[in-house]
Amino acid sequence: MTARPAPPARAAARKPIVPTTLYHYTCHDHGGPGIAERLKVIPARQPFLGRTLAWFTDMDTPDPWALGLTNAFLCCDRTQVRVAVRPHEWRDLCGIRPWWTYRRTVEPVLRELLEEVGLPMHWWVTDQPVPIADITPTPAVWAARKAARHA
Ligand SMILES: [Zn+2]
Repeated sequence: MTARPAPPARAAARKPIVPTTLYHYTCHDHGGPGIAERLKVIPARQPFLGRTLAWFTDMDTPDPWALGLTNAFLCCDRTQVRVAVRPHEWRDLCGIRPWWTYRRTVEPVLRELLEEVGLPMHWWVTDQPVPIADITPTPAVWAARKAARHA
C-alpha cells in the first residue's frame, strides 16, 4: 500500500483553530510584574489539577465568572492586567490548544469541577512559556461595567 499525503483540507482540520490574539489576565501585584519583566507568560503550577499550565482566553474583556477568576478561589483581582499573545507568530503555537482538546487528558471528576464555574469554550491552555505581544491595564470598559454593578 502506498502512503498518500493527506489532502490539504484534512491536514488543516487536524490543527486546532487558535485565534490570532489570545489574552491572559492577571493581577498588578503578583502576576503582572513578572510577565512585564520576562515578556513571557510562564506556565504556573495548578494545585487543583496537579499540572503546570498557562491559561488564555479569546475574551478581550475579562468576565471573571466565565474565566474562573472569581475571588472564591483567588485572593486578588486577576482581571487588572491584560496580556495579549499572538500564537501564530511562534512555532507550534507555543503549544497553545483549546481546552476542549486538552480536557480529555484531565481526570473526569476534576474537569467537571473546573468546568462547573465558567465558560470552557473560551479557555486555552499550554504547558510552554509564551512570548507576549502586549501588556496593559485591562481596558476601561471592564472597570466601567464593574462600577455599574456596584452602584
Ligand atoms: Zn495577585
